[in-house]
Amino acid sequence: MSAIILPKHLDIEAKVALMEKDARFEVAADLDAERASLADPAEEHIRSKTGPAKIPKMFLASKCVFNCAYCECRCGREDRLNYCNSPRELAELAVKAARQNGHGVFVTSAIFRDSDTTQEMLAECVRIMRCELGYRGFIHSKVMPGADPLLIQKTGLYANRLSVNIEVAKSEGYARIAKQKNKTNILTPMRTISNLISHCKAEGRSFATSQTTQLMAGSTEEDDRTILDLSQALYRVYHLKRVYYTAFHYTQDARGYEEEHLQKVVTPYWRMARLYQADRLIQLYGFTPDEITPESQPNLQQDMDPKTAWALRHLDQFPVEVNKADYEILIRVPGIGIANAKKIIEARKYCTVTHDVLRKMRISLKRCVYFITCNGQYRGGNLLFSPDLRSYLAGPPEQLSITASLVAGGCG
Ligand code: SF4
Repeated sequence: MSAIILPKHLDIEAKVALMEKDARFEVAADLDAERASLADPAEEHIRSKTGPAKIPKMFLASKCVFNCAYCECRCGREDRLNYCNSPRELAELAVKAARQNGHGVFVTSAIFRDSDTTQEMLAECVRIMRCELGYRGFIHSKVMPGADPLLIQKTGLYANRLSVNIEVAKSEGYARIAKQKNKTNILTPMRTISNLISHCKAEGRSFATSQTTQLMAGSTEEDDRTILDLSQALYRVYHLKRVYYTAFHYTQDARGYEEEHLQKVVTPYWRMARLYQADRLIQLYGFTPDEITPESQPNLQQDMDPKTAWALRHLDQFPVEVNKADYEILIRVPGIGIANAKKIIEARKYCTVTHDVLRKMRISLKRCVYFITCNGQYRGGNLLFSPDLRSYLAGPPEQLSITASLVAGGCG
């Protein structure tokens, strides 16, 4: 293993402070968008669980040999104060942070020297955490683009979760904004992880149990239909636990991209929140990507959540009788989510469900009243087939209209 020379002028506190700053460029940004989507009061009918726990991200090294245009860690940023840790130093810092946080830790890195060197150091870091420091909690480790399968295996022996960032929604995007990355050096490790997870599970061998990835919206001028199609293919082919969506930001000219004529752009934050909502509808509610973003409407809407937008495109399927509808139909009703559908089906065993019964069950009628009948009674007035219904249901929640202060990017 190559020894790392630590910059003498950076003490541990200074490095931790820089790591916290760099953590903005990783999955944390996605979790903030996801939390915003869950905080959307109009979104109760899409929610099914509480938001994900946020865990600290600890970096092995901050200066990369790759040159991704959108990333603060890219090579050629001489104006940046960089740092690096030895595997043992990172292990000690990560265990301390994980124990303080209580939910786990994410160990990651920019590419130091090359992918294999960095991966070997991350593998050694997680080994020290488990075998020498006795840490038993959750470890998520990044896998570098093109990393050797044996090094992935070594890392997964001690980590619970592994991830490789796919970043772009169209493969031609690599040449445009991340020149050293390509389909092969991203998808090959993803496939290796997927195969190792299933083989090790079948053979009872110790290995990570899940894999995630990060996908930037807005990096290739793609529409949301393209993003959702890709993420569903990733879930299906590589059995991913999660796809995290992050906003593409390009606000500072990057050396080496002069010929690409990249436009300065900041993908709006609301788009990420809507992508998380769409993702949940597909993963948990049985919608297909085509239902959420049909060819005729390939983008999600800022002022309307994707489930309500779907309902407005399918008014012929409403109103739904709550005393008869199957669970799969009930969860598609705007204003009725998984928890409320279960409550309704349970209540049907004992009584006829009326509007008053729904209120007593603390199910808000604000949205669903236009889409349901209760024992044949419809209380949505004349709005169901009126053009005014859309304006009743539209309106960007405050949380979604803010512009992200976070800068997109990623490491590894
Ligand atoms: S995104 Fe990752 S690979 Fe690309 S420059 Fe940043 S740290 Fe390096």
